[in-house]
Amino acid sequence: MSHGSPANHTTALEPGVRYICGRCTNCCRWPGDVRLEEDEIPRIAEFLGMDVAEFIDRHTRLRTNRRGLSLLEKENHECVMLEGNACRIHPVKPAQCAGFPNTWNFPGWRNVCEAFPVAVPVTDPGK
Ligand code: SF4
Repeated sequence: MSHGSPANHTTALEPGVRYICGRCTNCCRWPGDVRLEEDEIPRIAEFLGMDVAEFIDRHTRLRTNRRGLSLLEKENHECVMLEGNACRIHPVKPAQCAGFPNTWNFPGWRNVCEAFPVAVPVTDPGK
């Protein structure tokens, strides 16, 4: 099974269910891009006390498709921002991280993520 990012996987959302992060950090440990959106870069740099150029130089690379930046990964494929079981930039982490598995996911994601489901009201689009 492949893992990945919001742009390149099928999302299977379930109406009436929201998943709460179980802090397993599995999604921080698999290989692949951790996409940085344009507006996220200055926010994360400021949180780390760096200027944007230094942050880009030290912690990012081109995405696989070369259409934007990704956070670097360590040799073992963990995200460069993962320290033990904690995200170093948790309050300002990228939308890719904050959104999984509720705004994007991929077939079989339940096998590699310990988020737990809670029931939420289903919104009626007609209201
Ligand atoms: S930025 Fe934080 S939440 Fe996102 S993959 Fe890296 S360590 Fe995990």
